Amino acid sequence: MVEHDMREIDVREIGDRIREMAVEVSWNLGTAERECLRRLSEEEESPLGRKILSAIVSNFEIAAAERRPLCQDTGLAVVFLEIGQNVRLVGGSLLDAVNAGVRTAYRDALLRMSVLNDPLLRANTKDNTPAIVHIEIVPGDRVRILFGAKGGGCENMSRSAMLNPSDGKRGVVEFVTRAVQEASANPCPPVVVGVGLGGTFEKAAILAKKALFRPLGKPNSQLHLADLERELLDSINRTGVGPMGMGGTRTAMAVHVEAFPCHIASLPVAVNLDCHSHRHMEAEI
Ligand code: SF4
Repeated sequence: MVEHDMREIDVREIGDRIREMAVEVSWNLGTAERECLRRLSEEEESPLGRKILSAIVSNFEIAAAERRPLCQDTGLAVVFLEIGQNVRLVGGSLLDAVNAGVRTAYRDALLRMSVLNDPLLRANTKDNTPAIVHIEIVPGDRVRILFGAKGGGCENMSRSAMLNPSDGKRGVVEFVTRAVQEASANPCPPVVVGVGLGGTFEKAAILAKKALFRPLGKPNSQLHLADLERELLDSINRTGVGPMGMGGTRTAMAVHVEAFPCHIASLPVAVNLDCHSHRHMEAEI
């Protein structure tokens, strides 16, 4: 590929978009999420569950009206970058630009700094960096940015397992349902359930995380996986965990499954939960 076929993108432009997204997701819950939570507040059978859901609806309405965070935990920044292979990044270090966007957003918008320098030394970095960045090289000359602010309570309820291939679909449904049931109130349900199936140990976890970024409730394009998503949603809602773990029939907003080919001896599965403050946005440059 000769140089003139490449499209130049300044990494500072990527950093600026990330700054804008990090501020906006903190107070502006997506339209699909708002509609879903309103619908669940009507469908929920438990009176206490309905009350909790109407408090959640008021919370996102107030957050939007006053441009204040949806939750005190304004999250760890998780960024997926799909970079076209015909893009030439200029203007410095990509990771520095991503972290500069996060740093500026969290400082300017007075969001909580939730990142520690080391899991054992535990000193706050005081600027909410570093972000967790996943980079994929894809065809084309564009950069797609997925930004999420991930709360600690829901992230802590993640799970993965290497199931026996003979466990099959039934084993997957049991594992994912149990993960949500045992998480109970901790991930602040109604949750969004990201499921990664296949690949390897680490691939399944990344698939589960990326599944959370799909537009809420949009089914997998493969019919057998869309069927699995419906079955999982039904199974999770039958656990009785309910809104904020106080009992009820509406425990999940959506289940998104992403799958990848795997070894004949393996059936990797990973579950990553997001809370009702499901903060994610995407942009393309
Ligand atoms: S799980 Fe979500 S809603 Fe609950 S405290 Fe954490 S960020 Fe806030």
